[in-house]
Amino acid sequence: MNERDFFNERQEAKRATFSCPHCRTRAEYEVRWLRRTKKPAPPRGASELDRARFAKSRDYMVRVDDVLMCVGCRKRFDIPNSQSVVFI
Ligand SMILES: [Zn+2]
Repeated sequence: MNERDFFNERQEAKRATFSCPHCRTRAEYEVRWLRRTKKPAPPRGASELDRARFAKSRDYMVRVDDVLMCVGCRKRFDIPNSQSVVFI
C-alpha cells in the first residue's frame, strides 16, 4: 500500500521570486507542487500496519520542480529553497 492510497493528490502552482545564480536576474517563477490531502478513511483492505500509518499521516505538499530555467540567461539553476516537503 503506498501514499497514493492514503491521499488525494492535486497539482498546484505557487509563484515565487528567485535570483539566478549565473546572471543575477530576479524573476517570478511558477513552481509546481503536489498537494496531498488525506482521504477521509483508510483504503479498503488496509492491514493493521497500514491503518497505523494512515492514522499518523498528515496532509502535505511536495515540490515537483527542482530546477528552473532563468528567463535572462536561459541557464538552469536549482531552486535555492532546500525545503521540498511542507506539512500543512
Ligand atoms: Zn540567469
